[in-house]
Amino acid sequence: MMEKFKSCGLTTHMDGAGNVCGRFGDPDKPAILIGSHLDSVPAGGMFDGTLGVIAGLECIRVIQENNIDVNCPIEIIGTSEEEGRFGGMLGAQALSGHLTLDWLEKARDPKGEYLKDALEKCGLNIHETLRARRDPSSMKAFLELHIEQGPVLENSHKCIGVVDGISGVFKWLVKLKGKADHAGTAPMDMRSDAFMGLADFAHEISRIIDEEGTDKSRLTIGRVDLKPGYAHTIPGEAHFTIVGRDMQEDIMHQLANSCRKVLSSIARKHKLYFEYEQMSWLEPKYFSPEVVDLIEEEVKALDYSYMKMPSGAGHDIQFFTDLTPTGLIFIPSVGGVSHAPDEWSHWDDVEKGTQVLLNTLLRLAR
Ligand SMILES: [Zn+2]
Repeated sequence: MMEKFKSCGLTTHMDGAGNVCGRFGDPDKPAILIGSHLDSVPAGGMFDGTLGVIAGLECIRVIQENNIDVNCPIEIIGTSEEEGRFGGMLGAQALSGHLTLDWLEKARDPKGEYLKDALEKCGLNIHETLRARRDPSSMKAFLELHIEQGPVLENSHKCIGVVDGISGVFKWLVKLKGKADHAGTAPMDMRSDAFMGLADFAHEISRIIDEEGTDKSRLTIGRVDLKPGYAHTIPGEAHFTIVGRDMQEDIMHQLANSCRKVLSSIARKHKLYFEYEQMSWLEPKYFSPEVVDLIEEEVKALDYSYMKMPSGAGHDIQFFTDLTPTGLIFIPSVGGVSHAPDEWSHWDDVEKGTQVLLNTLLRLAR
């Protein structure tokens, strides 16, 4: 990527967090940043992240080839480690100043490798990572083009998503505790079966969303562990995760409260003990209305079909919403598939998304 930046005459460097940066224009003036990530998940596709970096480079090429006047520098940033191997978005968090030395020292991947060791293998270190922070006064705006990674645009027959925000997310670790018992000798009405409690709760999810949520609400049980986990033993414990999302924080609270109430009443019914731990609570993020409006105007001027939508997934740009004006553009993912080798977006949509990025960039840069 750095070679590509250099071949276009951009001032190129890799910062201490492994972010790859290519700058067009004045080195000191506040710049419009175009960012997305260059890393991927194992067996991931080729559009997730990379699209936003390559599209940014294409915008610069068009500006150069057509000698278009821009009044401020433009910098493309291919961020590092967005997919969260170490439990964060390292590159974007470093740029936006959302890292601490303490976290950098302790962060490990699921196999136990420390982030600081992984950085050193790449010739980087945690102190340089902290120094990658950009002062908010050095940024004029942050734009990102990304694939939707979901089925909504395709199913709605729209080619551009004008994203107005990123859903808030909470994650709970829930334990239902009953009594492990012999699956043959314990009569059905004398059991404290933790799985039956979990099953009842799973059935309540759609009702909780109907009563407390919105069309943007999501509740997911993504991981379940039954203990002791033998075919001939009644599960004495069910450990599971609940991940809840919505675009409004008060709705997130309502969903969480309702989950708690429903779980307590189910626990009573099945003679179970119920406890939960809140592992994380991330508030929703909203992009700048003036940039969202600008993107929408440009999409309308191009006569592309579009819809305004939230993003259910996290993206690099979410760390910049409090620092500088931000805007996120989506293009459709075929079949909604992402994080898989058959992830695909049609070239026609890639071109349209890049055109919207360019037009928005030019409006901001002039
Ligand atoms: Zn991504």
